[in-house]
Amino acid sequence: MQLIDGKKVSQDILNLIQSEVTELKNKTGRVPGLAAILVGDNPASQVYVNSKIKACGKVAINSEVVKLPGTVSEDELLRVIESFNQNDNFDGILVQLPLPKHISESRVIEAVSPLKDVDGFHPVNVGKLVLGLDTLFPCTPAGIQELLKAYKIETVGQHVVVIGRSNIVGKPIANIMLQKKSFANSVVTVCHSAAKDLMSITRSADILIAAIGVADFVTADMVKDGVVVIDVGINRVADSSPKGYKIKGDVNFDEVAPKSSYITPVPGGVGPMTIAMLISNTLKSFKTKMRLNYE
Ligand code: NAD
Repeated sequence: MQLIDGKKVSQDILNLIQSEVTELKNKTGRVPGLAAILVGDNPASQVYVNSKIKACGKVAINSEVVKLPGTVSEDELLRVIESFNQNDNFDGILVQLPLPKHISESRVIEAVSPLKDVDGFHPVNVGKLVLGLDTLFPCTPAGIQELLKAYKIETVGQHVVVIGRSNIVGKPIANIMLQKKSFANSVVTVCHSAAKDLMSITRSADILIAAIGVADFVTADMVKDGVVVIDVGINRVADSSPKGYKIKGDVNFDEVAPKSSYITPVPGGVGPMTIAMLISNTLKSFKTKMRLNYE
């Protein structure tokens, strides 16, 4: 069994980004900029936004956080988004989800310019991803593919089973792995809460991607020997530590790891990749704007 070290892979990516940002600054006199909009005082959202902003600082990307009260109107939020759409100093805009109930998530996602949509949630970018076109990919699925690349895990013709069909993880990773491209070109099955006999499907997975949101959901009897396991879950489970909880994945690591060829830990697997991909998307949209995309 080999552990997939998301901390290391994400740090390697951030190091490359940092040197590219320095090079671009010398060449153009400018650096990428990321705007983060935080609505309300959800503690988890605050933690996520803080880590994203901290990562920007580490690679010398400019960032700004706009904090709006939970009572802000949808119109006001849309105005703030539009002002960043028009502001040339910002190449990426992220609106931290979830939003308060009175605000339409889909209207907000659609208000962000597709060119600055570093979360990859805008329907234009989702459509391009499905069509196999180059675009800004959602960060967590993009991070999963980067992990497979970093460990040179065979994906062509492999059976990838995704548990979960959310718009931010399940659906996009299934579509990424389906494309006729390197580190994809897999045979993909997507399972969800209405699946009948889930175990018979997961037991045929060569690569199992768990994005369910239930701690320890995947147990040893659900996987075959030699499976590659990507655990996306981040679940708070109460314990007696000073914090009062620990973070657990969707996979029962102790049971499943001995049967796996590769497995991501939680924390330290997919999580750090999500932030690295956000920064990578911000750099990508900066380069697109500056017409510096030579790849
Ligand atoms: P979600 O709640 O939107 O979706 C969960 C999915 O699991 C649903 O599609 C549902 O059909 C499926 N599901 C639930 N119960 C099931 C069952 N019994 N059998 C089969 N399928 C079942 O969740 P999400 O936003 O995709 O997130 C999933 C997990 O990943 C959460 O723990 C979340 O915190 C975590 N997450 C982590 C990152 C990261 O950066 N590592 C990013 C996003 C989400």
